[in-house]
Amino acid sequence: MHITLLDCYTDEPAGLGVPPYLGTYPRYLYGLLQSQGDVRYITIDDLRLHFHYHGKVPVTTVKDTTDIRVYNLTRPIKKILEDTELLVVILGVHVPGKYLSALPGTLREVVPMIKDLKCKKILTGPAIFGTQLEGGKSYEKTDVSCFDEVKQFGFEFGPFDKLQEYALKGVSIIKEIPDYRIIEIETGRGCNIGHCSFCTEPIKNKFLNRKTDEIVEEVKAYYALGCVYFRLGKQSDFYSIEDPIGLLKKIRASCPDIKVLHIDNVNPVFVVAKNGVEITKAIVQYCTEGNIAAFGVESFDPVVVKENMLNCQPHVAMKAIGIINTYGAERGPNGMPKFLPGINIIFGLGGETKKTHEYNMNALKEIYDKGLMLRRINIRQASILPNTLLASKFGSKFLHKNKKYYWKWRNEIRQKIDFPMLERITPKGHILKDVFTEIYDGKTTFGRQVGTYPLVVGIEKRVPLRKFYTVKITKQMLRSVTGEVV
Ligand code: SF4
Repeated sequence: MHITLLDCYTDEPAGLGVPPYLGTYPRYLYGLLQSQGDVRYITIDDLRLHFHYHGKVPVTTVKDTTDIRVYNLTRPIKKILEDTELLVVILGVHVPGKYLSALPGTLREVVPMIKDLKCKKILTGPAIFGTQLEGGKSYEKTDVSCFDEVKQFGFEFGPFDKLQEYALKGVSIIKEIPDYRIIEIETGRGCNIGHCSFCTEPIKNKFLNRKTDEIVEEVKAYYALGCVYFRLGKQSDFYSIEDPIGLLKKIRASCPDIKVLHIDNVNPVFVVAKNGVEITKAIVQYCTEGNIAAFGVESFDPVVVKENMLNCQPHVAMKAIGIINTYGAERGPNGMPKFLPGINIIFGLGGETKKTHEYNMNALKEIYDKGLMLRRINIRQASILPNTLLASKFGSKFLHKNKKYYWKWRNEIRQKIDFPMLERITPKGHILKDVFTEIYDGKTTFGRQVGTYPLVVGIEKRVPLRKFYTVKITKQMLRSVTGEVV
């Protein structure tokens, strides 16, 4: 049987599968389905190019922005689509973000393109729990009757039974992808303390850690195929996985030439807990610079924290930010601090008032005034996803009530916190190495280092794309910097 995996990309609180990241869903399915036929991997970009551009890659003139809708191509797919007997569509965005060089597919976009294909169709991935590419909206309500099945495969969610076999078989998927990928590695599922109102992770999975040796084995298998960029990112908290220190040591020992080893989500509660400092030190020692502990603080307003059962009290977050700065602020060879905290803030949660913004601003100002560094502040509007507490208890009440303030709130954080913070992290004249150029916007080229939430650098001329440069910082923007190639 000819099986085609169509990756429309995934973004969840615990797990990123938007290029340059390669998520777990296509990889595991690639392993699983090999026993049932000949499996091919294609992307939503391939599908768009085929249907909307007759297979011809558009040229970006000096007036244009690179079309990121057709950026992550594998190869022409006409024949692959003709041969396909089973099409598995992987889709689902639960925490929409801004993506520099990719645009995830939505159901509204994908269904019209595939509905007439003469093959069996399955929809899977986070979308089976709802999907929404735009923050501040309810989940997509597109007719999915063109799919023969809408289902989860047994190993995607739930226990790790059998996962290892498919994870290892799936590594050869990388041979179908011409560009570099950051391999998002799964270390655990579910959440051991959280019931946050907006989050789907506890709904999808019971808390469970993946075995350390199995994680190492998967990293080694990708490394053997030439992959050198990894993020141990699919988990709700890196500090509470089975053996964080042992895992990092083993990966380093068995993959000595790894270029990027980063983590993602961290629960501040476990940074301040016993052993938190030891784990922090190990992350600084064994991971690569530019690493970020993404703290899901969501709000510094105690009312919002309580109403939404958020996992972290503001004073705990403050303490954890201090600990990570103490050990991680030193710079590594590529010019970035080794390990810094990042903060996620969500607008539209239950109990939000004008005071919420005051609490957030005061806390962020305190962090800045203490001389600490935050690598990035992610601000998004809540997506109301089915079966969450946010949907059942508050719906979009607070989103609607406060929407008129969001631009102002966000802008104040960007101007008063992000801007001076970036001056602290990458001052004028600072050198950043290994900046990979990705897109053009008119005469400007945008690039970033490879890794977790890298800083976007605008180079004010056109330089060839998909190459690494050393850049000297010339100016700070609100969330990015400009630089010149040296
Ligand atoms: S701590 Fe909250 S946001 Fe994080 S995974 Fe758990 S429930 Fe979700």
